[in-house]
Amino acid sequence: MQTFKQYINGQFEDGSDYFESLNPATGKVWARFPAASEADVNRAVDAAETALYTGDWPAMTATQRGKMLRRLADLITEHATELGDLETIDSGKLAKETRSQTGYVADYYLYYAGLADKIQGDVIPIDKPNFHVFTTREPIGVVAAIVPWNAQMFLAATKIAPALAAGNTVVVKASEQAPAAMLKFAELIDKAGFPPGVVNIITGFGEPCGRVLTSHPKVARVAFTGGPETAKHIVRNTSENFAHVSLELGGKSPIIVFDDADLEGAVNGIIAGNYGASGQSCVAGSRVFIHSAIYDKILEKIKERAAQIVIGDPLAEATQIGPLATPAQLERAERVVANSVEQGARLVCGGKRPGHMGEGWYFEPTLLACPDQSIESVQTEFFAPVISAMKFDTEAEVIAMANDTRFGLSSGVFTENLARAHRVSKQIRAGIVYVNTYRVISPLAPFGGFKQSGGSREAGIDVIHDYTRTKTTWINTSETPMANPFVMR
Ligand code: NAD
Repeated sequence: MQTFKQYINGQFEDGSDYFESLNPATGKVWARFPAASEADVNRAVDAAETALYTGDWPAMTATQRGKMLRRLADLITEHATELGDLETIDSGKLAKETRSQTGYVADYYLYYAGLADKIQGDVIPIDKPNFHVFTTREPIGVVAAIVPWNAQMFLAATKIAPALAAGNTVVVKASEQAPAAMLKFAELIDKAGFPPGVVNIITGFGEPCGRVLTSHPKVARVAFTGGPETAKHIVRNTSENFAHVSLELGGKSPIIVFDDADLEGAVNGIIAGNYGASGQSCVAGSRVFIHSAIYDKILEKIKERAAQIVIGDPLAEATQIGPLATPAQLERAERVVANSVEQGARLVCGGKRPGHMGEGWYFEPTLLACPDQSIESVQTEFFAPVISAMKFDTEAEVIAMANDTRFGLSSGVFTENLARAHRVSKQIRAGIVYVNTYRVISPLAPFGGFKQSGGSREAGIDVIHDYTRTKTTWINTSETPMANPFVMR
């Protein structure tokens, strides 16, 4: 069994306590990780604050910071396979996906490396004579980055990269599920030459680690990705320190297939949005609305494709669906599918553990034909390869159905009619609309939701400003010294 170390103030440290991680493909313990204590969190935040104000980091120019981020990006590219495989062993996600996603994570660091020296202030055309007034954008302070288990390298990059580009320091709390790649990544931070304390990576649970970190008086910014219930804790925690908070939360995203859609493309979109990453993706398009004229045909095609999907070891090249990340996820998937069938959904395929996969937490690609949105599988985000399909007849009807959710992260529209694509995209209340495609991301494209999916954005240019605060400087340019304020002229 491997034992990982936490990374605080540039040192790799043993934990005072540990938790074990199980390999989802075998159900067996494979590694243990430090469970950060309150004292560990305090040391990490202290180190981050010291590095923010003293030593090499604040003395570096923005261009030098950019170069250091580029060095980190190169190291990630070099180690993408190793990092990807660790994530796969720990989370069950396909190595094919974790390796290429980790390789692409380097692009997030490169993108923000390029922005580091393009963070500028303004000169204010002030409404008073004899003043030169200008603004500068300064680092906001110590950033706490909290990530969930399903794509830690990627979700951490969307926070660490802009935070460092803007000159902040960071404490990352990796998820208690599958944190291996994040602690390996700490070695690359070290190798890239970041001064001690600039990035600290700890592993632990919501209590005490997450709570202490997000309510810490020295933390100025909390960047959170996770579930809506945890987000409520984060918001309450930050009432202690008034930290700026960004929230990237869950979803129950619609995919709409009109009767004029390219059917193969639509089926690929539905499969990518639901069976990709075994459905364990925040943008999963798990409410699928299909025009009644093509409903049976599409369901038949999905069923055919599901039967051909290779379920297996996530490290194997041929595998298309790996295990779910935790036994709790698997039990939940079984329960939700069973409840949904009881409520009136028709099980078209899947719905159970495959017979041939031993103790791993595997679940078959599943298709439920649902009469309406009252069914549990339509209502609940439950992170499994399960499609809930429903019929519609008119555009107005399907827009209303798609918007009838408390979430608003992503959405998909399949149609060959350009005017309809624009019309429908405009009316969908979600932060992302994919037209004739699904589940694509880029460091250049803002990512985030509406409603209870959290209103913040990650990726894109504007995010850099979420990691700065504005300082306004007033300079008296008159020849005479400042007048006595109590003597009226
Ligand atoms: P979670 O909310 O249970 O945990 C997320 C993180 O919060 C973990 O690191 C956890 O330890 C930490 N945490 C728990 N309690 C805390 C507390 N009181 N204070 C501070 N931190 C605390 O989420 P999860 O089950 O790991 O991940 C799944 C959720 O994440 C889903 O809802 C999914 O949709 C969402 N997600 C969203 C996005 C996005 O970008 N919008 C991306 C991926 C996942």
